[in-house]
Amino acid sequence: MAQIIDGKAVSAAIKEQVRDEIARDNIKAGLAVVIVGNDPASRVYVNNKKKACEFCGIQSFEYALPEETSMQELLELIDTLNNDKNVNGILVQLPLPKQLDEKAVIERISPQKDVDAFHETNVGKIMIGNYSFLPCTPAGCMELIHSTGISVSGKECVVIGRSNIVGKPMAMLLLHENGTVTICHSRTKDLAEVCRRADILVAAVGKPNFVTADMVKEGAIVIDVGINRLENGKLCGDVKFDEVSEKAGWITPVPGGVGPMTIAVLMKNTLTAAKLQNKT
Ligand code: NAD
Repeated sequence: MAQIIDGKAVSAAIKEQVRDEIARDNIKAGLAVVIVGNDPASRVYVNNKKKACEFCGIQSFEYALPEETSMQELLELIDTLNNDKNVNGILVQLPLPKQLDEKAVIERISPQKDVDAFHETNVGKIMIGNYSFLPCTPAGCMELIHSTGISVSGKECVVIGRSNIVGKPMAMLLLHENGTVTICHSRTKDLAEVCRRADILVAAVGKPNFVTADMVKEGAIVIDVGINRLENGKLCGDVKFDEVSEKAGWITPVPGGVGPMTIAVLMKNTLTAAKLQNKT
């Protein structure tokens, strides 16, 4: 039976560290969160970010814009936030309504304030291993892997999913820690066979119960990034928890695994941004 990796506990410890450092060094840090439209899931995420800011002593600025916001209006707001000394981090909640070009919006955020680490400057820095911030979800997954006490070095690591937000940066972070990394995606052949090689298996597919026990090596670390809403309203990951937890050595639950880590790393990144900007 797998040991459960407790994302709530690990994320709480990170937020406490951020809170203590802010209080100890009297750091002024501010995070602007921009939400466009009325997506209920995005609303929940934004509220959770606000609560985490309050806990850590980070000032939060929320900009809730209507669904029909134009590109020009959004870019003007980002320019204002880029120039606002009280704002150290800027996060635009994705997805954006159809009329808005997500890529152009992300590229408009100053790389020094891009606490999601989605800007191409930050993505490039991560690629060469010379970064200030790491993208929140993959960095959160790395913290969970570290919490097991098992070293990534030399391990077979398989990431299912190749999105710019999760899969690709996750693979890069595992590589930075000397894992032997394979990225799988919708065109991968013999997926189960590839996954069975993994000492560390990360699922970021967005399909409920996609990873079954026959795809998992005995004793593996299984990190479930997926957040899927079932018809009955319950949340479920990409991993079939009941059967995979019988075989894995370590496993993250959904909810209570990767989810809370994303916000904790966001708080850490906002503190880092404030420290870097206060230096200049
Ligand atoms: P995405 O849709 O952009 O990417 C999904 C990936 O899965 C793609 O690269 C695709 O190639 C791969 N895929 C699809 N079908 C496949 C198949 N049959 N076999 C192998 N690979 C397949 O999704 P994303 O943004 O990377 O998110 C993935 C999941 O993680 C979603 O459930 C999302 O809600 C969740 N997520 C969670 C957090 C968090 O904070 N915990 C953050 C971001 C995303």
